[in-house]
Amino acid sequence: MLMPEPDAATLARRAEIVADLRAIVPGEGVIESEQERRAYECDALTAYRQLPLVVVLPETTRQVVEVLRYCQARTLKVVPRGAGTSLSGGALPLADAVLLGMGKFKRILEIDAANRCVVAQPGVTNLGISQAVQGLGLYYAPDPSSQIACTIGGNVAENSGGVHCLKYGLTTNNVIGVEFVTIEGEVIRLGGKHFDAGGYDLLGVLVGSEGLLGIVTEVTVRVLPTPPGARALLIGFPTMQGAGDCVAAVIGAGVIPGGMEIMDRLAIEAAEAFVHAGYPLDVEALLIVELDGCAAEVDHLIARVEAIARAYGATTCRASQSEAERLLFWAGRKAAFPAVGRISPDYMCMDGTIPRKEIGSVLLRMKQMEEKHGLRVANVFHAGDGNLHPLILFDANISGELQRAEDFGHDILRLCVEVGGVLTGEHGVGVEKRDLMDAMFNEVDLAQQQRLKCAFDASGLLNPGKVFPQLCRCAELGRMHVHAGRLRFPDLPRF
Ligand SMILES: Cc1cc2nc3c(=O)[nH]c(=O)nc-3n(C[C@H](O)[C@H](O)[C@H](O)COP(=O)(O)OP(=O)(O)OC[C@H]3O[C@@H](n4cnc5c(N)ncnc54)[C@H](O)[C@@H]3O)c2cc1C
Repeated sequence: MLMPEPDAATLARRAEIVADLRAIVPGEGVIESEQERRAYECDALTAYRQLPLVVVLPETTRQVVEVLRYCQARTLKVVPRGAGTSLSGGALPLADAVLLGMGKFKRILEIDAANRCVVAQPGVTNLGISQAVQGLGLYYAPDPSSQIACTIGGNVAENSGGVHCLKYGLTTNNVIGVEFVTIEGEVIRLGGKHFDAGGYDLLGVLVGSEGLLGIVTEVTVRVLPTPPGARALLIGFPTMQGAGDCVAAVIGAGVIPGGMEIMDRLAIEAAEAFVHAGYPLDVEALLIVELDGCAAEVDHLIARVEAIARAYGATTCRASQSEAERLLFWAGRKAAFPAVGRISPDYMCMDGTIPRKEIGSVLLRMKQMEEKHGLRVANVFHAGDGNLHPLILFDANISGELQRAEDFGHDILRLCVEVGGVLTGEHGVGVEKRDLMDAMFNEVDLAQQQRLKCAFDASGLLNPGKVFPQLCRCAELGRMHVHAGRLRFPDLPRF
């Protein structure tokens, strides 16, 4: 995978840069030694590693402003980082870039129960927000499986999702305000505690921008009342097609479960052997459907979903009878990734989204691809959102297997686009899917997206090498085709 060529002059000035940054962030806020920088050499996409030039851990917005102004003035690249759990390589360092770690921004700044929102620094963990308001009967809905570790700043940058996002929305639907700093050191606030902000939806632009537009220094999120109750249904199917069609039918019938996950046979067997959740082992696909609300509503919805599932060929249907049993049903799903880790030395977790009605056919085609690539795939994903997480099993110690796994992953993502889906669901593009962007966007689309990037970061210093297969400088985007000496819009001033 090609990354931007490191700038030799920057590498040569390393000692001077470290000294200058120490003047801005004193104490232990600048990490220089190779041994300590090693801890930052990759994120959760561990196939790619690179030691950063230097690591800076600011503690205040003022320090972030000064670090960014310094970098802008010296044309120094900056890679933002939260907890480093990205699965797409978004926080992968560059040899000639400052790694800006936001881990010290870990205070909850305000709990505003009247406005049902929390103001937090970006280094607070996702789970930390729910824990802070638990006593008030509130919680923060988007729940990535990594919620114990990942930061809310990282969630904003990746527009993260989780099991409960089907009913309660992704990060973008639950973040109502941010403060961020541009590469020029300007502090900008978007949104706030109010419902809507005037002007363009810049908050929508910033959420999911993967650290390419600015450094998030404060986040305001909506928190919701904890549902009074919830029950989960385990539904087994003899075919993936039946399970996929059932997912579309449940949503089509107007039932929006609190969570709706699917596992294929390989994932079911791995999870059951690991957690003993009571999953049926004689089925090809398993749905876990959670219905939440007051008791009468939950019972009514359970009956409706069960009836739909039977109509689509379900052979097993078991509703949890206690809170302990509900948690046990989920324990298998939550441990599915590590469980798959027990049956294969390595796996690669892909992330693409498809229209729900295509779930059955896409899973079938994935099975057929196993033969072409000579690798197995286990599936466990957010079925209700059509957000696939195929786990491609391989052994990195066998020469060529990593490459085959990557090729397999690319074929799956191309298939997602082919059936009307998208390259990513919640893990972002990062470096992992960067070179596939042209499967979904043409040159004009990519140029338009880069114009937006230029509006925030004209010199392309924030997180270069990520998301865009090739990053154009703003001037290059302004190039236009002049035919027969006739300039278009001749009355417009040129710069
Ligand atoms: C086991 C496991 C399970 C996971 N499950 C899920 C899941 O269910 N759903 C899901 O959506 N994701 C999941 N993820 C992926 C990951 O946890 C999310 O993408 C998460 O939001 C990353 O947060 P982070 O703090 O670790 O950010 P990092 O990995 O450090 O960074 C991610 C991106 O955000 C940028 N960034 C970080 N902080 C800032 C900031 N303050 N300002 C600007 N840019 C910033 C970085 O440059 C990078 O591009 C999982 C990961 C693992 C390892």
